[in-house]
Amino acid sequence: MAGEAQADCLFCKIVAGDVPATIVRETETTVAFQDINPQAPCHVLVIPRAHYHDAAALATAEPALAADVLREAGEVAAQCKVADTGYRVVFNTGTGAGQTVFHAHAHVLGGRGLQWPPG
Ligand code: IMP
Repeated sequence: MAGEAQADCLFCKIVAGDVPATIVRETETTVAFQDINPQAPCHVLVIPRAHYHDAAALATAEPALAADVLREAGEVAAQCKVADTGYRVVFNTGTGAGQTVFHAHAHVLGGRGLQWPPG
């Protein structure tokens, strides 16, 4: 059922505390943790505690929860002290766009110059 934890999902395991992660922020509905393979000085993932395949599925099923994730992305940027210099929030969606973990997540990237268009 939509939103339910999936036994084979890495990020559900992080939410449950079964896989370790460096957690930087938590709310009732979201968890933010350091990306294990950082691509910028600030590279944090913000996820809903509930399981959705990708950002579009999340926003369709639970728009308020999608808003929680976006709000937390801003809080992470402030905590990383990149809010003033600029940062990027990325939702890779689908394998062709580089999504490798199929539990909706926002990448918050900052602390270095970011090129446009992205690769
Ligand atoms: P995606 O490629 O957009 O799906 O992003 C998945 C991200 O999860 C990648 O940037 C990975 O480096 C990151 N990642 C994979 N496993 C872990 C982990 O165990 N802890 C933290 N980040 C992870």
